[in-house]
This record gives sequence, C-alpha cells and structure tokens, in this order.
Amino acid sequence: MTTPVLRVRGLGKRFGDVTALADVDLDVAEGEVVVVIGPSGSGKSTLVRCIDLLEEIDAGSVELDGELLGLRVDRRGVLRRMPARATAPQRRRMGMVFQSFNLFSHLTVERNVWEAPVRSLGEPLAEARARAQQLLERVGLGHKGDAYPVQLSGGQQQRVAIARALAMRPRLMLFDEPTSALDPELVGEVLAVMTSLAQERTTMVVVTHELQFAREVATRVVFMDAGRVVEQGTPDEVFGNPRTERLQTFLQRFS
Ligand code: ADP
Ligand code: MG
Repeated sequence: MTTPVLRVRGLGKRFGDVTALADVDLDVAEGEVVVVIGPSGSGKSTLVRCIDLLEEIDAGSVELDGELLGLRVDRRGVLRRMPARATAPQRRRMGMVFQSFNLFSHLTVERNVWEAPVRSLGEPLAEARARAQQLLERVGLGHKGDAYPVQLSGGQQQRVAIARALAMRPRLMLFDEPTSALDPELVGEVLAVMTSLAQERTTMVVVTHELQFAREVATRVVFMDAGRVVEQGTPDEVFGNPRTERLQTFLQRFS
C-alpha cells in the first residue's frame, strides 16, 4: 500500500468549550481532489488550519508523506509538540489559499510570487523570476507581473495567490473558501484555475460551497457537520445518494 500524501487520524480541536473537531480521519492520496462541504461552523476551516499548522491540535495526528506534522517522538517514545518555529519547513510543503487574498500590497504581482521561493527556499533570483512568470501565465496573468495587487480585481488577486502558493512547489494545496469573498462574476475564473490544477493531478483539499465544482472536479467529497466527518464518497455517492438526514438537509438548502 502506498503512503497517502495526507493522513489525518483522530484529529480533535477545541476552542474553550467549543469542540471544533472531533475524531476526524482523512486520507488524501497523490493526485486526489478532496472537496470538503458542510454548514457554517462545522469545522471545515479548523480542519485545514490544523493541517497547515496554523492551529495546535488537541488530539490525534496529521502526517504529510508519512511524516508527523507539528509533533515529534522524543527519545522515550513520547509524542511532543514541536515549537512553532520548528514547523516552518513542514508548513512550506503545503500551499494555502484563503478566502481573503492577502497578497503583499507593496510588492508587484511578480515579486509576490517569487519572494518566498527566494527568501525561504534560497532559489536563485533569475530562476525564481522566470518561474514566477510561468506561473502567472498558468493562471492567465502573464501580462500583470508589473502591476500591484490594488490594480487587480479580486478574481485576479486570488489567481496570483494561487500562483504564489504553487511557487513553493507544495506537496499539497489547501483552499479555504477561495471564492467566497469574490463578486459572483469573478468566481468562475478562479474555479477554472483550480479545475486546471486538478486536471494536472495536483493533490488538493478544497473547502467550498461551490457544489457544482465539487460535482465536476472532486475525486471525493467529504461532508462535515458539528466537527465530524459525517459522510464521504464520490460526488455521485454524496450528491446522488446522501445517506444521512443531515446531508440531505444540507443539500436541499443549497440546491
Ligand atoms: P467552518 O469553517 O466550517 O465554518 P470553523 O472551523 O470556522 O467552521 O469553526 C468551527 C467551530 O469552531 C465554530 O463553532 C467556531 O465558532 C469555532 N471556532 C473556530 N475558530 C475559533 C477561534 N479562533 N476561537 C474560538 N472559536 C473558534
Ligand atoms: Mg470556514
């Protein structure tokens, strides 16, 4: 059996009295596109934030290519939390795209894309710039390298954010509602870029309410409610034959 790119086991996360995640298991194999759906407050963001080491987990484990994230086994065989700064190399192996584009506003679009590869991976500037240009072309923005983020539409900024994440050559791309902050007419151009990444077999976990995208692009759909994975399966299984009342209710509300 091959090791999945991502393996989540028994993941638990609480905020005070609120249980945001409870006993979540999730495997993502190479080239899979897993779309996470569920009502507001069901734990979707917390899940991707725990995977991306933006939140400390309370229970369970997350592994990337078989390596524990944020945890290490000490000499006595006890699991210890890694200090936050020690997790930076692990975080670099994942690309995250948020709802808000948060590009560096004082840097050109092109530099937004090459900054991290040069600074944290030590890539030579000329190579990183050439690659930034390629990535911008890949997201349809080859002509915008010299612009500043404020000069771009929301959809264009989000496509730059995707190019910026890809520049780090991540093993796994994480998306948390990447189109939720966009004007409706700009959603399609971002989904189109994500669809092309999926077709190139980029391994992705995507939180979204765009159920049509989930139907067409997901290899697997995961439905969360109240911090738990309630159902998962192929798009046909999840949308065509929802087994739980909770998923049926959720889908009715969105159709
Ligand atoms: P979703 O992304 O599915 O809307 P979230 O993962 O954001 O859900 O939230 C899951 C639960 O955890 C919610 O009850 C939310 O209020 C709570 N929560 C999330 N982040 C925090 C936080 N930083 N502090 C306190 N509660 C939080
Ligand atoms: Mg969320």
